[in-house]
Amino acid sequence: MSTVQLSANDLNFSGGPGALPHEVLLQAQQAMIALPETGLSVLGMSHRSAWFRELLDEAEQHIRDLLNLEDRYAVLFLQGGSSLQFSMIPANFAHGAKRPTEFVASGYWSGKAIGEAACAAPVKVLWDGGADGYHRLPDFEELAWNPQAPFFHYVSNETVEGLQFHQTPRMEGATVISDMSSDFLSRPIDAGRYAMIYAHAQKNLGPAGVTVAILDTALLDRIPDGLPPMLDYRTHVRHRSIYNTPPVFSLYALTLICRWLRQDIGGLDAMEAINSLKAGRLYQCLDDMGGLVIPQAERDFRSQMNVAFRFRDTRLDALCLQEAADAGFSGLGGHRSIGGLRASIYNAVLPAAVELLAEFLEDFARRHG
Ligand SMILES: *Cc1c(COP(=O)(O)O)cnc(C)c1O
Repeated sequence: MSTVQLSANDLNFSGGPGALPHEVLLQAQQAMIALPETGLSVLGMSHRSAWFRELLDEAEQHIRDLLNLEDRYAVLFLQGGSSLQFSMIPANFAHGAKRPTEFVASGYWSGKAIGEAACAAPVKVLWDGGADGYHRLPDFEELAWNPQAPFFHYVSNETVEGLQFHQTPRMEGATVISDMSSDFLSRPIDAGRYAMIYAHAQKNLGPAGVTVAILDTALLDRIPDGLPPMLDYRTHVRHRSIYNTPPVFSLYALTLICRWLRQDIGGLDAMEAINSLKAGRLYQCLDDMGGLVIPQAERDFRSQMNVAFRFRDTRLDALCLQEAADAGFSGLGGHRSIGGLRASIYNAVLPAAVELLAEFLEDFARRHG
């Protein structure tokens, strides 16, 4: 067995909010009482202070540097979670459109996005994995997308089913928008291929309350007048993400995470290398269990963030969850929509914690195989 000392918090495999690095939690704890820079509690810091403006500028710069963003992109910090983006995007970019917006239906979260978009604009689903239970993803090349569609939307990592695209869409002329909520900053991406990327913080970036939206400023010209200001991206660009009171603490934690990613981890290539090792270890362990477990994702579409699986004998799901809880692991229950088990191994989950989980699962398999 591993010899590293891990706390209960290190063994949190929750799907979201996800685990945060211990170093970041210690700094956040200190900032609750007094920020090193101001001597005031972060919870009482004004969002109109110079300290906060500098903090937001720093967070934006980290995101720009980590993703090599071109100047044409605006980086916004919004509220309302990714769910609000599901309705803001069609309201801003599909208003009065003659052609339907286009979607890939690859799992639970893309289904939510489609449902909300359909309230605002006609929707066309180009590919739907629902009929066979969401085990795979399409090739972007095989989709009959229309460059005149107001936008094309897909979810880069289906958090519930544990399905992840390992390719970037090459769709010249299309307005490609991606919900990257559960794999943002977990690996390098070719950001220039997207018109818009968005991701809420609570899986890889910090506590809930803030959503990062990166958008090509050329998109702003498509926004109709008359939207409520809070729902109009132009408001947030103009006010540089301080139109109303933002979640100061969440943004502070997000900035700490960005520093950690760059200084402690060494950037997105290094983060991806760690994430692939962790995921590789867990999938290997599931594969080695023979027919005892069924991973949700087919091999080519396996997520490096969410490892979803079930036991062939469904009684073992509950038993495994109970034994895991007794052994100190938490957050392993599958999403309520599909059941089974899911180990979410976001950026902050340590390789040593994954090793411990793999050893636990191997032992469980020996005893119940
Ligand atoms: C968790 C999740 C959401 C939901 O985000 P909220 O911030 O709770 O609205 C949306 N998309 C994906 C891919 C997610 O994983």
